[in-house]
Amino acid sequence: IPVDNFDLVIFGGTGDLARRKILPGLFRRFLAGQMPAESRVIAAARSDFDDAGYRAEIEAAIQEFGGPESKDKKGLEAFLGQLHYVAVDATGDGGWDQLKSLMRDGVVKAFYFSVGPSLFGALAERLHKHKIADRSSRLVVEKPFGRDLETAKELNATLAEHFAEDQIYRIDHYLGKETVQNLMAVRFANVLFEPLWNSHYIDHIQITVAETVGVGGRGGYYDKSGAMRDMVQNHLMQLLCLIAMEAPNQFEADAVRDEKLKVIRALQPVDYHHIVRGQYDATESSPSYREDVENPRTHTESFVAMKCHIANWRWAGVPFYLRTGKRLKARGSEINVVFKDLGHSIFEGDEARHRNVLTIRLQPNEGIDLQVTIKEPGPGGMRLIDVPLDMTFAQALGDEAEDVTDAYERLIMDVIRGNQTLFMRGDEVEAAWSWTDPIIEGWTARGDVPKHYDTGSAGPEDSLMLMHRDGRRWREIK
Ligand code: NAD
Repeated sequence: IPVDNFDLVIFGGTGDLARRKILPGLFRRFLAGQMPAESRVIAAARSDFDDAGYRAEIEAAIQEFGGPESKDKKGLEAFLGQLHYVAVDATGDGGWDQLKSLMRDGVVKAFYFSVGPSLFGALAERLHKHKIADRSSRLVVEKPFGRDLETAKELNATLAEHFAEDQIYRIDHYLGKETVQNLMAVRFANVLFEPLWNSHYIDHIQITVAETVGVGGRGGYYDKSGAMRDMVQNHLMQLLCLIAMEAPNQFEADAVRDEKLKVIRALQPVDYHHIVRGQYDATESSPSYREDVENPRTHTESFVAMKCHIANWRWAGVPFYLRTGKRLKARGSEINVVFKDLGHSIFEGDEARHRNVLTIRLQPNEGIDLQVTIKEPGPGGMRLIDVPLDMTFAQALGDEAEDVTDAYERLIMDVIRGNQTLFMRGDEVEAAWSWTDPIIEGWTARGDVPKHYDTGSAGPEDSLMLMHRDGRRWREIK
């Protein structure tokens, strides 16, 4: 279904994110017939391009990052025809009149701030001053939303000077993933799970976001942030909220976000014995974290694992284990809901602790599977085995799974539709910092030093111990 006609202005339209994600994503939506032919994408950045020069840049970017669809030459040409470019100085006056003259009335106006947060204030102010944005315009902003509570509040206040909260779309692309939305469908559209979704039946929950890459070219930025700020405060906490929240009364932006906020507010402060930080070591062929960020003394973490608790009735006593890190042995993001075992087996000789585990896989192979215990086939008697009821979308849905849209394209279309459900509200972001700030401050105050871990491992030994001490273990990163 096509969305309404729109003018989407991308500040930072020549940047890395625009080239790799935003424009290839828009191109796929265009091919899918969702982007109306009269809609326009107006890139605004510092470089001196004309429309033709910018289109050539984006043609190359789409060929590089656009996947198999980029072979559709005719489609690509038509899409490029909808792109325009204006050289704009975010902190000066150059280019703004030209941008204003390009904008049309009677269409959805969205402004994507794909630039560093230091420019947000200047951009918001100029959009207002030049009367380019109005009360119905939408603003899309990228993480990082501050680096602590104070800076997040400043950032929210800066945006609030010219835009209302219902105009602001804070992107966390994890929320745009197909499986994350499916998590809500599984929880709230089946009779099967919700009655068991509490401390009576769930032993613990694990959330893992594992990467094999190092910090790449982002070393300078990353070293000032670390895994806690870069991953836990946003992506992992958002996943935690969706797993743990109460059912909203309807699937609507503020109803969902109110419930997520309650989860964040109910998170208990974390005992520092329950957190493990790590930094990856060098191998013969790859540099160490410290070499990657060119900071031989840095104590920033490239890995963090922690155990936390949500203080409410539903989750009393149920630990949530979170971990994320770089240069680990496999790339994979998944949530595992590990149910309690039965306590007594009626099957003689069966000493294994069989547990149902619901796995929600975000990447790779987005899908959901449920580990169930069945009889081992064959004449060997009543032997039990655990098998997955696998629902990898690509297998289960066949061709339709091909249409599983990338997170960015889905979220951009949601902006045009005016649907904020999958975007973070300002108070959520601030509440998340209120929880992570004391953890980070504690590390600094104690002079905490991250543990080293081997590149290609599952992280520091202590992270395994965090689980072993509780008689549990991490599900393997495959
Ligand atoms: P980038 O450095 O590649 O691009 C920055 C863009 O901003 C360029 O188009 C540049 O022309 C423009 N710009 C800079 N100063 C300007 C000025 N004074 N006036 C007008 N335009 C100006 O950055 P990026 O990697 O594309 O990231 C953009 C934003 O998205 C950042 O806030 C970043 O933290 C965030 N982000 C990026 C990624 C990613 O994968 N690249 C992921 C998540 C979030």
